[in-house]
Amino acid sequence: MTNKIFFTPGPSELYPTVAAHMQSAMENKIGSISHRSQQFKEIYAHAVAGLRQLLQLPDNYEVLFLSSANEVWERAIQNLVKEESFHLVNGAFSKRFYEVAGELGRKASKHEVPFGEGYTPEQVAIPDAAELVALIHNETSSGVAIPADAISRFRQVAPPNALLFVDAVSSLPHPAFDYSQIDSIYFSVQKCFGLPAGLGVWLLNERCIEKAHALQRQGMSLGSYHSIPALLEKAKANQTPETPNVLNLYLLGQVVADMNSKGIATIRQETETKARLIYDFLESSENFTPAVQDATFRSPTTIVANTEIPSSEINKRLAPFDMAIGSGYGSHKEAQVRIANFPAHSISQVEALVNRLEEL
Ligand SMILES: *Cc1c(COP(=O)(O)O)cnc(C)c1O
Repeated sequence: MTNKIFFTPGPSELYPTVAAHMQSAMENKIGSISHRSQQFKEIYAHAVAGLRQLLQLPDNYEVLFLSSANEVWERAIQNLVKEESFHLVNGAFSKRFYEVAGELGRKASKHEVPFGEGYTPEQVAIPDAAELVALIHNETSSGVAIPADAISRFRQVAPPNALLFVDAVSSLPHPAFDYSQIDSIYFSVQKCFGLPAGLGVWLLNERCIEKAHALQRQGMSLGSYHSIPALLEKAKANQTPETPNVLNLYLLGQVVADMNSKGIATIRQETETKARLIYDFLESSENFTPAVQDATFRSPTTIVANTEIPSSEINKRLAPFDMAIGSGYGSHKEAQVRIANFPAHSISQVEALVNRLEEL
């Protein structure tokens, strides 16, 4: 038994209601039901309806379930890019999407800015041939978030037919996106939704669907069980092509319902309050400084700091107090820390963490 609070940027602390929902899943034998049963269809429909409400998703968007955000990258390229994609790269996750396009044989180009920096649409030249433009709202490796209104302005600088993709894996449900200015957005549940890993959620509009059908008509392979047409056909019947992660779909529906009862406005407000607590501390600390120089690009949900004390040493000192934070990403492992500020983290837990960090 451990009481440790995970401030790691994903997997992270589970949403406080997950244990009770897990218990009810066991009592109702959710792990044994058929994925073609009426009971499953209701679980599926409940998760979708809850997500639509929480994210204020317009009707021209579909909700699809995959295994992870990594899978969204692969399916997006397979289904929507015949020749060329374009990627905004400012850290490890945005870079990985770019690499996936190349591994799948597409011509991928990028606009890359240094680790820890952001960008505005006006600074970026997107090639006319780009069929998909990959943006990242929240770069979990560096703690950079691109403001939602800057994301919206990419439509004005992108070729008219390009599909605008937004990685919001470690920020949703906090950002309020203008869905009419983008075409697809995706996340996985082990970050801000406070669930065990193993489920990716892919939101996409009719422009994506039409493009997939057009490529299919041209004779291009879109893959098999998780092609967009295959996913959509089953989604219409509240099902998935494969036997899915039923338990996690159930938990997602329950947690999203809990988030809806709390209200998205409250969740957003609390996220900002907690982010303020953490950034105020970092700015006044002798051991830490915010890693993102330009405050307009500082993420509210994954907060990255440069640290004088190696991250492994910090976690050693936090361990007796049942707390863990994330180390820096890749080569920044010891010199930076990453602190998750997700809906699962309460204001009092964040206050307690800040107090401990102050005492280091
Ligand atoms: C974690 C993360 C991913 C990858 O998610 P998986 O569920 O592991 O595929 C992608 N993008 C960002 C920004 C992430 O933080």
